[in-house]
Amino acid sequence: MSNLSSTAEFELCVSEPAAKPTLQVLPGRLTDLGGLPIRRILPRSQRRTVGPWCFLDSYGPVNFSSGKPMDVPPHPHIGLQTVSWLLEGNLLHHDSLGLEGPAGPGVLNLMTAGRGIAHAEETSTENGGHLRGVQLWVALPNETRETAPAFEQHRSLPVVELEGGGATLIMGQLDGVRSPARTFSPLLAADVSGVAYSRLTLPLNPEYEHALVPLVGTCRLDGQPLSIDTLYYLGCGRRELLLSCDRDPGRALLLGGTPFGETILMWWNFVARTTEEIVAAREDWEAGRRFGVVKAYKGQRLQAPPFADRPVPRPRS
Ligand code: MN
Repeated sequence: MSNLSSTAEFELCVSEPAAKPTLQVLPGRLTDLGGLPIRRILPRSQRRTVGPWCFLDSYGPVNFSSGKPMDVPPHPHIGLQTVSWLLEGNLLHHDSLGLEGPAGPGVLNLMTAGRGIAHAEETSTENGGHLRGVQLWVALPNETRETAPAFEQHRSLPVVELEGGGATLIMGQLDGVRSPARTFSPLLAADVSGVAYSRLTLPLNPEYEHALVPLVGTCRLDGQPLSIDTLYYLGCGRRELLLSCDRDPGRALLLGGTPFGETILMWWNFVARTTEEIVAAREDWEAGRRFGVVKAYKGQRLQAPPFADRPVPRPRS
């Protein structure tokens, strides 16, 4: 998935963790990705990062009878990992390493961009007419961000069984259970599900900052009703979280990590530290250098937008 925003300006993302438990509520901002309506949940002007998590889009549910609601042509990434996680439907990943990743619900597609990779993501032809999912980016720490590009797929992830539900470990660890997905800094992403009329207590690492993003159903956090596709930022220092469901089952994404500590520059599909790096990566993409070719994709690749050397003034939405 790609950041298709046409803005030429970069975004300065300062790590600003709340040292103590807090509650910051940020409804997702409606935008679109090549015609597919999405909610942009991170970065926001009021909250750029949660641990190393620096980007979160939620899309669907969409129903369709023909075509591809998601069709993102080849585009480059640097300095991050992309995490594709589906609740409904199917997607197909192709990258410039020549790897293919057909994914459906419960399958993690994890791409480590490192110094540079290109990929495309599109709705599979065998898709059943529904699509619902999230796309996340993890910023790589300075010392490992030039790592070699890689793609991995995990088709069976560990689950923490809890009274009234469970949590699938997408990345990182929770309650002593660890995902096999490759990570570069301490972090957590879990898909938490609760059955109807349940109360789930999730143990948290107090050294992490956490956020909860409800995806399905009507749940409550510590008794407070929650809205779908909204970021509930919880700060650091929490030891547990109480998620309860009433007459519907619910699902929510739990994100966490040690405060990232580094200020990153985000522009288009790049996570960098300096504008010079962004300019060089942009020029390499436009000139057909560094990133390789996504040979399996039928169609034109994305062109980089123009780059403007000033930070983006974001609407406080
Ligand atoms: Mn992408």
